[in-house]
Amino acid sequence: MRDLSIVKKELLAALPGRVRFDEPMRLHTSFHLGGPAEIWAEPNGEQQLQKVLSIASTAALPITLIGGGANLLVRDEGIPGMVVHLAGSSFQYSRREGSIFIAGAALPLEWLVRRTQEAGLSGAEFLAGVPGQVGGGIRMNAGTHDDEGKFHHFGDIVQSIRVMDYSGNGRSLNPDQIGFRYRGTELKNQIVLEAHLDLSPGDPAIVADRVKRLWEFKKKTQDWSSPSVGCIFKNPKPHAPGEPAKGAGWMIDQAGLKGTRIGGAMISNKHANFIMNLGDAKAADVFALIAMAREKVKKQFGADLELEVQVLPSEGRGE
Ligand SMILES: Cc1cc2nc3c(=O)[nH]c(=O)nc-3n(C[C@H](O)[C@H](O)[C@H](O)COP(=O)(O)OP(=O)(O)OC[C@H]3O[C@@H](n4cnc5c(N)ncnc54)[C@H](O)[C@@H]3O)c2cc1C
Repeated sequence: MRDLSIVKKELLAALPGRVRFDEPMRLHTSFHLGGPAEIWAEPNGEQQLQKVLSIASTAALPITLIGGGANLLVRDEGIPGMVVHLAGSSFQYSRREGSIFIAGAALPLEWLVRRTQEAGLSGAEFLAGVPGQVGGGIRMNAGTHDDEGKFHHFGDIVQSIRVMDYSGNGRSLNPDQIGFRYRGTELKNQIVLEAHLDLSPGDPAIVADRVKRLWEFKKKTQDWSSPSVGCIFKNPKPHAPGEPAKGAGWMIDQAGLKGTRIGGAMISNKHANFIMNLGDAKAADVFALIAMAREKVKKQFGADLELEVQVLPSEGRGE
């Protein structure tokens, strides 16, 4: 690896005012916890992005990408190397072209829902109340069931995306190449830059009404009382028709863990698949609750709970 002080100078020259060192990740994650990023870079535009990727590659620095930080559990030790966060107007644009809605990767999902509604398009309403940005939402194939029990996933509305690899090369991908699956995709070392969404014409007043209903449904069914990442675990495979849903939250609840507290973290009393940061939680507290939930659920139901939250860095202690 090259001398880090030289790399830092190069970065400060390439992205004036958009690079920081030892940046606390609690400022950039919905969980409000986690150790520092060694280097934090916020490119505003594709040229700046190519520049930071080239500097990172020459210096052999590991690259970690973050969007809105709404699905991240950052270890207390922090993230070595460079954390790249697409930011600014160059990544937050949107426009309608017929029934296609084009959105930059850093557009918050909340803005996406509002702007598609204002543009007279329907189809993105299910993202109401899902925190994060377009790029992270696509990478996670964010989804939800609505107040009528119907499941929706981001992949359902994606016509294509534009991505850049870590060498700075761009290309377009269609849904088959993206490989959407439950809470994930096949995207590896690909940075989402832009999404083309296939929506339908919709009366803004009707769309607004649906968005309001879905928001109310979210607030009623999820716990928004303290910082969290939403669901910690994926739900196990779909249940057989006629069988009651036995999601991860249901099993953790049945195992009697609602309200269990370790340090500053607690399994929600309202939704057992949520772990809440009561104010001063460490990632280690969350890992301890994760281990406890896995052990009890395995013992009682024989099920292996798989993490939905993305742990950064992915390899390390405490999971
Ligand atoms: C209160 C609450 C409720 C939630 N409810 C839901 C829900 O109902 N349904 C649901 O699916 N999720 C839910 N979530 C989780 C979260 O909203 C989603 O996972 C969302 O998609 C995360 O987007 P993000 O931009 O914050 O991604 P981040 O958390 O920043 O990153 C997630 C992953 O995406 C990658 N990534 C980020 N940006 C890019 C990019 N531009 N290109 C490529 N990869 C990228 C990151 O490297 C990481 O692997 C909830 C979270 C909270 C806090």
